[in-house]
Amino acid sequence: MYPIASHWLNYIDGAWADSAQRLIVNNPGTGAPVASIAQASVEDAERALLAARRCADSGELTRVRPAQRVTWLLAIAQEIRAVADEGAWVLCQENGKTLNDARDEFIEAARYFEYYAGMADKIEGTSIPLGNGYMDFTLYDPMGVSAQIVPWNFPVSICARSLAPALAAGNAVVIKSPELSPLGLCVLVNAIERAGLPKGAVNLICGRGREVGAHLAGSSKVDQIVFTGSVPTGQAILANAAQHATPSVMELGGKSAAIAFADADLEQLLASVKSGIFFNAGQVCSAMSRLLVQREIYAQTVEAMVRLAEGLSVGLGQDNPELTPVISAGQLGGIEAICRRAIEEGAVAATGGEAFSDRVGHFMRPTVFRDVSPEMSIAQDEVFGPVLAVIPFDTEEQAIAIANGTLFGLVAGVFTQDINRAMRCTRRLRAGQVFVNEWYAGGIETPFGGVGLSGFGREKGQEALYSYVRTKNVAIRVAGE
Ligand code: NAD
Repeated sequence: MYPIASHWLNYIDGAWADSAQRLIVNNPGTGAPVASIAQASVEDAERALLAARRCADSGELTRVRPAQRVTWLLAIAQEIRAVADEGAWVLCQENGKTLNDARDEFIEAARYFEYYAGMADKIEGTSIPLGNGYMDFTLYDPMGVSAQIVPWNFPVSICARSLAPALAAGNAVVIKSPELSPLGLCVLVNAIERAGLPKGAVNLICGRGREVGAHLAGSSKVDQIVFTGSVPTGQAILANAAQHATPSVMELGGKSAAIAFADADLEQLLASVKSGIFFNAGQVCSAMSRLLVQREIYAQTVEAMVRLAEGLSVGLGQDNPELTPVISAGQLGGIEAICRRAIEEGAVAATGGEAFSDRVGHFMRPTVFRDVSPEMSIAQDEVFGPVLAVIPFDTEEQAIAIANGTLFGLVAGVFTQDINRAMRCTRRLRAGQVFVNEWYAGGIETPFGGVGLSGFGREKGQEALYSYVRTKNVAIRVAGE
């Protein structure tokens, strides 16, 4: 347990800054206020953009040898590791997630900086043969000012996921933290400050999405927008970004399906469902929100899922239970409304379907819906809560059609002992990432991103670095050859 400051600030142009207005951050498990934070205004956003612009244009991040950026990123990683315990406590209190998961977020954040430190001095172009009389090569220039709009579900690790490659490539960044869970990011940026980057390289503002987020998205001072969040917000940002044709990376929602064939290892499947839909109370963009089960094992699998859900320990994040509260009363109400609609449409809540009535915070009962058909809203719409829709299928063909039958395409999974079937399905699944026999099998090294409404562009892995640069070709006429 660590003391939490009662008021937190924005970080603009190398200094912590207050604002006239404040936002109150509440603990989702108790409803009690954790702290207040300065609510950034559009003017604050402008100051952050000017600071980032100045830093980007000064060349302070790019005229240094790339090895200097390696040093900065490794120093950042070290500073983050040093605050992981304290940061985890703050994040756990404001977000409701378990203390262990909150700590993992800080460690993962440090890993992103270590990983992209390893690439910061290897951003190499190519030479292109044009025959005698010409020399031609490519350069990777940083985009300039990267505006990064972060959601509340994994604020620290998602922020690091975009910030680390952006800095590795020599960009200056303005981070817009999420209103519901902004404090962990203050701990993160406080650690980054100690690594000694040039002023203006990293700015952090916490403002209202529709005001400050929208301002960033529509600003001509922004060279790139990186957004992680919901589909409607992504669409609003893209409409704003269109004004200046600002390039964007969009990491949006999902309705990801796992396909369990009759020969699947049930223990392996159960462990994957447990993390797939109940980890972080199901508030994960790549959650396993649909489980497609071959008819021969449907009844027994539903039974096993119900036992799993009913056996989960529930409590405050600080006690590291298996199920934590969802982020807010609004989120909880939305999840309950989706469950009511599922029941109206004919799905059966085999367990759950409503909030815990005997708990103070925003606790949703772990829910398993059976008799779900693919066209029902519970099989089509993102829930973003601990709610699993179990859908029966007969053939491989049918399973693929159901799995691909939503507007999303973030991740997908296949559970089978048959390698040929796994490979066939993997090819045909319309998703940015496919897991075989373990949900969330990837890591920071594996490219991640969506198809369809799940978005575009890739984060994580080596590939993500190239979202943060633009290619410049240099074509030279050589006389006398
Ligand atoms: P959200 O879209 O409500 O908010 C995300 C961020 O956008 C917040 O910082 C918010 O202030 C800001 N914002 C809101 N309106 C804005 C506007 N008009 N212009 C600019 N910015 C605006 O999302 P959320 O509720 O914080 O997160 C949940 C959603 O995020 C889910 O749909 C989930 O699937 C998605 N998500 C996706 C990924 C991924 O990597 N694909 C990861 C995590 C979450």
